[in-house]
Amino acid sequence: MKNKQVRLSSRPTGWVTPDNFELTEAVAGEPGDGEVLVKNIFMSVDPYMRGRMNDVKSYIPPFQTGEVLQAGVVGQVIASNFSAIAEGDYVMGMLGWENYSVCDGRLLRKLPQSSAPLSWHLGILGMPGMTAYVGLMKIAEAKAGEQVFVTAASGAVGSVVGQLARIHDCRVAGSAGSDQKVALLKEEFGYNSAFNYKTSTSLPASVKEACPDSVDVLFENVGGEILEAVLWNMRDYGRIALCGMISDYNEQELQPGPRGMMLMIGRRLSMRGFIVTDHPDACEEYVGKAIGWISDGQLKYRETVAEGIENAAQAFIDMLKGGNTGKQIVQLSEV
Ligand code: NAP
Repeated sequence: MKNKQVRLSSRPTGWVTPDNFELTEAVAGEPGDGEVLVKNIFMSVDPYMRGRMNDVKSYIPPFQTGEVLQAGVVGQVIASNFSAIAEGDYVMGMLGWENYSVCDGRLLRKLPQSSAPLSWHLGILGMPGMTAYVGLMKIAEAKAGEQVFVTAASGAVGSVVGQLARIHDCRVAGSAGSDQKVALLKEEFGYNSAFNYKTSTSLPASVKEACPDSVDVLFENVGGEILEAVLWNMRDYGRIALCGMISDYNEQELQPGPRGMMLMIGRRLSMRGFIVTDHPDACEEYVGKAIGWISDGQLKYRETVAEGIENAAQAFIDMLKGGNTGKQIVQLSEV
């Protein structure tokens, strides 16, 4: 079987471009002892992958040039030499940007038989949904009646944060990069107020208008100017869950700031970064609750689907530029 694969051909300097990727073709491998051959069906493209393209030490090792890139993948087993996983099982794991992957069976998670579409395990029932829950409920400890503000509010994580905030009786506001996304936030994801940060003439004024009584909890996905704007609007003892800083990921030189850090002292603010995988118990707790919220209509889900491994690199770049609404995934084969 032919196996198309996407490799990192060079490390980006500044914005990642299609030239940083190479599409190659090989023959799908045979599973060895304890290994499984998976036909990949959906793969996830995520902002953290941009950080892994740089040769820097982080919480996760960098991608190596010339090697097949890795992603969260959902697929179906077509051959297994691992006793706990059988041919036909649906599995999830960190596999390659490729049509077929051979993997140590111990590194795969068998997906339960359920009515949820397979791709949801990469989004609302997967890492982005878990991130929303961990950041909002465990790091920021949002409480009923509080005002939450979410940046990159219509994306995979942000769209869930807003809905979780509403489910927990918070008031929620957010920013996103187009008028269509802003409308979706209010009409679909239950945001009380939202604005387009690209057309705002004053970000602090837009935050103030969206949150007239100030912000108790900031769920921060972006950093830079919007973080600074929300800082000016935080209430005493406000909490900031630092989830991501996507405005920096493609910058060649990091900007100083945010300005106004003095506010952290006067207003007794706290800011805490987190990595979702450090919280496995909360992730499991979330999935149990999310299934209930989805089935009773409280939690809605959107995804943007690119077709084919040939389009994976472009889907990744488009997502970093805001081309996605909800979770960006790539469909590699039919279910
Ligand atoms: P996403 O929001 O689905 O997609 C990224 C979005 O970021 C784009 O759609 C774009 O939306 C927005 N964006 C890009 N550049 C921007 C800029 N300069 N200023 C403002 N917005 C910008 O991605 P996601 O997977 O949900 O991830 C969201 C954030 O969470 C990322 O920072 C990611 O690194 C972080 N994250 C952290 C963890 C963790 O464990 N800490 C886990 C998962 C994700 P607009 O059209 O609105 O600009």
